[in-house]
Amino acid sequence: MIVDCHTHINQDELGKFKELLVEEKLQGIVSNTTVEEYLQNKNFLNDEIENNKVKLSFGVHPWDADIFNPDDFIEIYEEVEVIGEIGLDNKWCKVPKDIQERVFVRQLEIAESLKKPVTIHTTGAEKRVLEIIKNFKMKKLIHWYEDDKYLDEYIKEDCFFSINPSYELNAVEQVVAERVPLERILLETDGTESLKWIGDGYLQFQYGFEDITLDESLYLLKESLEYIAETKDIDIKVCEDKLYENYRNLLGGNF
Ligand SMILES: [Zn+2]
Repeated sequence: MIVDCHTHINQDELGKFKELLVEEKLQGIVSNTTVEEYLQNKNFLNDEIENNKVKLSFGVHPWDADIFNPDDFIEIYEEVEVIGEIGLDNKWCKVPKDIQERVFVRQLEIAESLKKPVTIHTTGAEKRVLEIIKNFKMKKLIHWYEDDKYLDEYIKEDCFFSINPSYELNAVEQVVAERVPLERILLETDGTESLKWIGDGYLQFQYGFEDITLDESLYLLKESLEYIAETKDIDIKVCEDKLYENYRNLLGGNF
């Protein structure tokens, strides 16, 4: 079973996404950044959530840290299986650092009190995120990690890492795949919008895609799986099973 451990689904993709879940071609964690998005996904994917084919996560993204207050969303944090994506971003947003940090830490406190795993965004703030998460004990998924300087310290913190399909373009992604132990590796796409954004259309060009829809996204997940199997020098089926076990482990094996 292929698992996309961090994705965002557009409204017009929901039908197709549900189809892939029902046909057992995919499982995963769908990230929600607003209440509206969360309620829509929860209603539409209700059966698949019940059947453990998909998990929802919710979190105030660092980009929105100056407009949302985590304490307004306690009921949602109680409902979801994963809290995220949360974190810090010093590269792609201008939200003041102190506000980002306050919102990030508050959500870590909530996750810890609810004993839930977190998905963490670290862009351009890898050092500070590392300092902060050392104070928290929950399971942590580091998504789209981009700085090999602190990688070993994150590994020491027993973090999980989700590898995205930019590895051929992005040398750090290769270092992550090589250095992180197999039992801490997961896969992600971050949604079709992110896949299109990688290297300004690099994946479309590289694979000859006219567009990137959920079909191409699934194809790229399979390519990533093959890449991890090669990197770790193991059989692809063994790798697939191992990554599924990692996913269950991240979620506390509770399905
Ligand atoms: Zn994301």
